[in-house]
Amino acid sequence: MKTTLPPERNERAVVDDASVIDTSKMNEGQRAALELTEAARETGERRSFAGGLFMGDCDLRNVFPFPEQNPHDREQGEAFLERLEKFLHERVDADAIDRTGEIPDDVIAELGRMGAFGIKIPTQYGGLGLSQTNYSRAAMLLGSHDANLTALISAHQSIGVPQPLLMFGTDAQKQKFLPRVAKGEISAFALTEAGVGSDPAAMTTRAVPTDDGKYFTINGEKLWCTNGVKAGVIVVMAQTPPKVVNGREKKQVTAFIVDMDTPGIEVLHRCHFMGLKALYNGVVRFTDVVVPRENIIWGEGKGLRVALSTLNTGRLTLPAACVGASKRCLRIVRKWALERVQWGANIGRHAAIADKVARMAAQTFALESMTLLVASMVDKDKKADIRLEAAIAKLWGTEKAWQIVDETMQIRGGRGYETADSLKARGEEPVPVERFMRDCRINTIFEGSSEIMRLFIAREMLDPHLKVSGAALDSRKPMGQRLAAAAKAGLFYAQWYPKQWLPFGGSVPAGVPAPLARHLKWATRTSRKLARRLFHAMAKHGPKLEREQVLLGRFVDIGAELFAVIATCSRAAALARAGGDEKSREVVSLADYFCASARLRVDQLFAGLTANVDREGYRLAQSVLKSPMEPLVDGIIRGEQ
Ligand SMILES: Cc1cc2nc3c(=O)[nH]c(=O)nc-3n(C[C@H](O)[C@H](O)[C@H](O)COP(=O)(O)OP(=O)(O)OC[C@H]3O[C@@H](n4cnc5c(N)ncnc54)[C@H](O)[C@@H]3O)c2cc1C
Repeated sequence: MKTTLPPERNERAVVDDASVIDTSKMNEGQRAALELTEAARETGERRSFAGGLFMGDCDLRNVFPFPEQNPHDREQGEAFLERLEKFLHERVDADAIDRTGEIPDDVIAELGRMGAFGIKIPTQYGGLGLSQTNYSRAAMLLGSHDANLTALISAHQSIGVPQPLLMFGTDAQKQKFLPRVAKGEISAFALTEAGVGSDPAAMTTRAVPTDDGKYFTINGEKLWCTNGVKAGVIVVMAQTPPKVVNGREKKQVTAFIVDMDTPGIEVLHRCHFMGLKALYNGVVRFTDVVVPRENIIWGEGKGLRVALSTLNTGRLTLPAACVGASKRCLRIVRKWALERVQWGANIGRHAAIADKVARMAAQTFALESMTLLVASMVDKDKKADIRLEAAIAKLWGTEKAWQIVDETMQIRGGRGYETADSLKARGEEPVPVERFMRDCRINTIFEGSSEIMRLFIAREMLDPHLKVSGAALDSRKPMGQRLAAAAKAGLFYAQWYPKQWLPFGGSVPAGVPAPLARHLKWATRTSRKLARRLFHAMAKHGPKLEREQVLLGRFVDIGAELFAVIATCSRAAALARAGGDEKSREVVSLADYFCASARLRVDQLFAGLTANVDREGYRLAQSVLKSPMEPLVDGIIRGEQ
């Protein structure tokens, strides 16, 4: 493919682009997006556990024994969680919230009083100072009852003002804003614009410094700002003047804390969606909004890094909420599958339904294991590199939760599709499967869509290889440099590659029940298989591998299944040890079933690496997009969409 850039630009890219990815063959839009996100990438040198899985390094000691919540931490969270559960159960009518599209003021006020807006904010700033694990348990509770409240609390706490300030705020910023938001002043996060969904390089909101440099004037419009309609203070991402590095302009995105009563801010529209009917989500316009320089989070030009780092931990809320929703679905299904009799037996006795119930149970257990494992990693070391683990939990968890809700609807049959209000009106139990389905759908889209999560994980999974061999493959570099880099890479791979062919499983920690030990040995072997197949794909496609999104997605999905299998075995082994014989048998069979089915999925994914119709599919899609074939457009109503 010919480069779209004039040669002198390409030469400069050799000099000033520190990224290990060769962007010279990309078009301007791709290059801008990639360079901006590459610059904002965290570049922790420590390899995470999940990162190791893609390199054939499955060190089980990192996740065994399962890091149970310590009793002190559990006790600290207990009082709050009990109060939250009682409140949700007795005072929050989730169907009424869905029906009216409003969360009653007294519900929000009580959540504020009990500290739900400051769960992780340290006590010195008026928060509850609880751990990530306790926060995840709160998200599970919320997710099992009302997704609108989950979104309110999560947008405020996981991506709104508290999380970025806790990570990057100055002492003065923390003193000023954290007590406000801990008490219940709602906050929000505004990144998205009409032209900026997954691509922040297209941002048009600008923040221009005043002549004395003490203030910035913000102009622009943000879309879909959750809580924006009710927030007192929000984090706004805006482009600040570009920096010139080696004669080339670099885009700068900066994060500002903005009080919503600042003159020039208007909420133009409250957005309404398929689900999350009571989301206070809006279009927010900024016209000459003046913000003091001291409201910048971390530093000028570091906004995207603030956003990405905030989301690394922030996106753990969604898998936790999905655990809650999945457990609720399982409860609904258990009751219905036992009580509904069709064709002479309760439907749970029919194999097609039993198959779904088993899958739902196993995936729910796996998702909770993964979520608690990653939460414990955050609690153990606030600086731990959990980017991959959190992204996998978000990607895998939201996709599996959607399947679980979908199967719940199928098992409930027509009653699944009927609204809770309608069921109630004709005298049946108001089981809210229809609401859960509407509310659940968004989870694979926001806080990093599944496609973007797969790209993000793929980028991190390739990172060790790009560091070793990126320079050798980089057509921007002079041939001498590339040859030297190739020699170095050769040395690395001469040692690394033969290890990926070791046939045995590796050691499994003592005391793991036999069926699970077998799965863990498989996981260790499969991690090496994954590493070598990834290496083969790199050798085959070279730098073009970056464009093979579907292929990369399969590698990502294999890594995600491996992580799920290991988290599941680790937690099941701990529970089996702690329980009596019967409990132990139960939990081992649950985990065993999950691992066996995950292994089948992994087999299919490996098969798809070579036997697929990716190329043909891509070509077909392009031709359909360009000019749809007649049989595909015939016989439907006229119109644009
Ligand atoms: C209910 C709701 C609440 C939200 N809350 C907030 C909020 O509080 N703050 C905020 O800033 N934003 C918020 N958003 C925005 C949300 O994060 C975005 O919707 C999301 O980032 C995706 O952007 P988009 O919808 O513009 O999709 P696009 O980026 O236009 O993508 C469309 C499709 O293309 C895929 N795609 C895009 N790029 C690529 C690529 N390079 N390769 C492969 N596939 C690609 C996407 O995955 C998606 O499937 C919210 C959105 C909704 C609907």
